[in-house]
Amino acid sequence: MSKQYETVIGLEVHVELATKTKIFCSCSTEFGGAPNTHTCPVCTGMPGSLPVLNKQVVEYALAVGLATNCQINQYCKFDRKNYFYPDNPQNYQISQLYLPICHDGWVEIETESGVTKKVGIHEIHMEEDAGKLVHDEWEDCSLVDYNRSGVPLIEIVSEPDMRSAEEVIAYLEKLRLIIQYLGASDCKLQEGSMRADVNLSVREVGAPKFGTRTEMKNLNSFKAIARAIEGERKRQIELIEEGKKVIQETRRWDDNKESSKAMRSKEDAQDYRYFPDPDLVPVIISDEWIARIKAQQPELRTEKIARYMEEFELPKYDAELLTSSKHMADTFEETVALCGKPKEASNWLMVEAMRLLKEHEMDADDMKFAPAHLAKLIEMVAAGSINRTVAKTVFEEIFAKDVDPEAYVEEKGLKVVNDEGALKSTIDAILAANPQSVADYKSGKEKAMGFLVGQTMRAMKGKADPAMVNKLVKEALTK
Ligand SMILES: [Zn+2]
Repeated sequence: MSKQYETVIGLEVHVELATKTKIFCSCSTEFGGAPNTHTCPVCTGMPGSLPVLNKQVVEYALAVGLATNCQINQYCKFDRKNYFYPDNPQNYQISQLYLPICHDGWVEIETESGVTKKVGIHEIHMEEDAGKLVHDEWEDCSLVDYNRSGVPLIEIVSEPDMRSAEEVIAYLEKLRLIIQYLGASDCKLQEGSMRADVNLSVREVGAPKFGTRTEMKNLNSFKAIARAIEGERKRQIELIEEGKKVIQETRRWDDNKESSKAMRSKEDAQDYRYFPDPDLVPVIISDEWIARIKAQQPELRTEKIARYMEEFELPKYDAELLTSSKHMADTFEETVALCGKPKEASNWLMVEAMRLLKEHEMDADDMKFAPAHLAKLIEMVAAGSINRTVAKTVFEEIFAKDVDPEAYVEEKGLKVVNDEGALKSTIDAILAANPQSVADYKSGKEKAMGFLVGQTMRAMKGKADPAMVNKLVKEALTK
């Protein structure tokens, strides 16, 4: 019988915080400026420059720590992590090792197969990001852009509590939602504002000790993470079965080749010669400060779901779907505030928006239309000025190009035709052109009427009110 293995996974998640300025200087954190334009002596590591801590960084770290049930180190400090690399101009990174701001927290995850469990958070610490190396502009040299140098990060280190890719994805989604709801980051994996390193080992089921772990970097989507976990799990099991040893090392996952490659043997903390940063004073966090952050905490997803069910009388399923991204929830709430029709707003987003998102392989966060336009569309349907078929087409335009539905309907001439005279003469013409259907109806084949209604709707280019057409066709047939 073949042996049964268990996968043991812990994550290190780096999140770029949504501050306007960097962690230790007042340079802009804005993404995409011309290279080296968001820089100053501090974030380019000039001798004699001194870092000054951005208070907002501490507040975001506290908010995330409190929302993930962490203990707070009310006396915390920064340390220097020493290493030489061209994207790190000081030759050390300012981080936290000995007294990180938050420790010993947890989040509850629910996997798609319905398993609920707690994942422990070992610690959350604050640190600065490095610059970016550009290797392919010229053949014979590399360039460095320090715009990202000094952008604030928090690193969330989990306990090795996860056992499958499914649990890892559930954990990351949970963290992402909490942090997005707090407004602490937009957490976009593709753009690098959320980055996950996966520590993974395997052991025989029931073994008392963990196996040797490897760390995988360079994972920039949930799918890549799931594939990397599966690939690394297989690789380690094969090594063990062949009687070889798993080496503790950092590996780079190549998602195109679906395989990983050793990058470097794993360093321990001692290799970095951490020591307290003498340029920064300790951060003292008072009880009052913690209380204030707690009081400012916005409504998180669990509370939002409960409120949607209560205040808008939505089913739990709807409330869960609408809150699965903060942007979706915001769009829903703004639409409802404008049109006062929660069930309608929910239906448009859950059915049509979700369908279009899936069709275009988009994230809910990429939805760009103004809630005011959806609200207006809902009102136009309620007022009967467009029918539902036309409304669907208009919604697609709103979704794709954020058109103003009123102007769009006007321009394309899509308004419902309520002119009975015009409708009646169209119906008369249809009936005259289809004597067989009329005869069928009169001999008791009720289905024939559906055909005539369809022909009328087509002749009216879908702009007639179907209820009215039904009524008028029936009248004409029984005349
Ligand atoms: Zn700077």
